Amino acid sequence: MSNVAWVVRHRPYAAEANGQFRLHLLAGQGATGELMRIGGTGDAPGPNLSPVPERLHVGASPDGTGRFAGKITSVAAYNTLRDRLVGRPRGRSAAGLLPPIPGGGGFAAHWLDDETVEVFSRPSFNLSASYWVFLKLPDNEPDLKRLLIDLKWYGAVNMTPTFFFSSDRRRWQRVVPERMWQSDGRTDFRVQFALTAAMRKGGWLASGPVFGEPECAELLAWSRKQPHTTVREIGSSVEGRPIHLIRVGAGEDGPDRRGVAITCGQHSPLEIMGGHIIHPMMARILKSPTLLERANFYFVPTVNVDCSHYGGNGLNANCSNLNRHWLVDPEPETACIIQHFDQLRESGQDLDLAIDIHAGGIFRNHVLMHMGDGEDVQVGCAAGAQQEAWRELLEEHAGLRRTDGWALAQNKLRASDYFHQVHGATGFCLEMSSCSYFDPADGHTKAFGPAAFDIVAAGIVRACEERFRD
Ligand SMILES: [Zn+2]
Repeated sequence: MSNVAWVVRHRPYAAEANGQFRLHLLAGQGATGELMRIGGTGDAPGPNLSPVPERLHVGASPDGTGRFAGKITSVAAYNTLRDRLVGRPRGRSAAGLLPPIPGGGGFAAHWLDDETVEVFSRPSFNLSASYWVFLKLPDNEPDLKRLLIDLKWYGAVNMTPTFFFSSDRRRWQRVVPERMWQSDGRTDFRVQFALTAAMRKGGWLASGPVFGEPECAELLAWSRKQPHTTVREIGSSVEGRPIHLIRVGAGEDGPDRRGVAITCGQHSPLEIMGGHIIHPMMARILKSPTLLERANFYFVPTVNVDCSHYGGNGLNANCSNLNRHWLVDPEPETACIIQHFDQLRESGQDLDLAIDIHAGGIFRNHVLMHMGDGEDVQVGCAAGAQQEAWRELLEEHAGLRRTDGWALAQNKLRASDYFHQVHGATGFCLEMSSCSYFDPADGHTKAFGPAAFDIVAAGIVRACEERFRD
């Protein structure tokens, strides 16, 4: 948990944000019942959020004077600026107040026992400058014994769960810290590594296999040499960096061809590890006569190219979250992609499937978020049936299980909203985990490693082959 107000303090709209932090616990009967406040922080801590309360107790106190003595059966937790909507005379229901929440992050609730719920924050990249780790290790320092990483940012506890090392940014392998602990101040999170002989020679340490500028350049160079493949610069970022689109398909864009859009890298370069599935996907498509003949694939390897350049925290150079600017107020990065796909639509080219890939959070397995009904947009019967067919195949072939995923309500915000509402595509958001993945080949959940990219890539291509066969 941390403080948006502090992050945006130099922005003109900083005054709109409360310069403080609060934690509320609200209770209601079911998703539609009115919410009431049953506990929370009393005094708002200062802008540094130090200390962030580690535990919050609600319910009757031993002397019976507590405000709430009911039984809580389930918990949903959200990071939101909309707390002012709570506590109005006519209270809001959970369904009316909670998702979709622009700028907010969710929390995964875990019951420790009947009376205690533990919440771990999910990625809230605009709320934390150090959610991800990406470090260059010094070259040739044979005397260095250990590396201590001090993850902190003005009171925000870092939640980076995994670490990978590479000497060449090509082969990444997981490294387990020698020690991890929180410092006395409770707000610093420290990780200590014993440096191996390889690490003492130099290299990179990151929270996931990085797909940054060199990796993207290499993918584009390789793509330019492939048959049935074109690489186009379709626009540029706030700071003028080019945004590329790779198209694969043996026919012209047009009405009698299937279409698949894959977008990667809307946020931080550590999240952009999803770009690693493009190469194995293309390699398989290029060997599939069915797909080459019947479908066109459109890949955007990195949407947020400025953030990739700087290794930023996930926002673009306008301090905007690009995945909130697909249907309203497009940013330069999303605007050029939208323009490209809108032109395709005018040429009669349909999109059947769109997957917007994110990555690197503390999810157990990859999370495939499917389209759910939103406040203003309902997923109709026909679109729902299409989606079910895709979910079935993606679970079977890519290991993207229903049980690991959840619905994302359609809104006017995200890439998955745009591709569904404008193109009629089944629009998924895929969060690739750097922790673990489900391997469909043998039905086991395994520790994440680069092999996971190939498995997901192969599974998506296989699903497309089956869907486009007739
Ligand atoms: Zn993301």
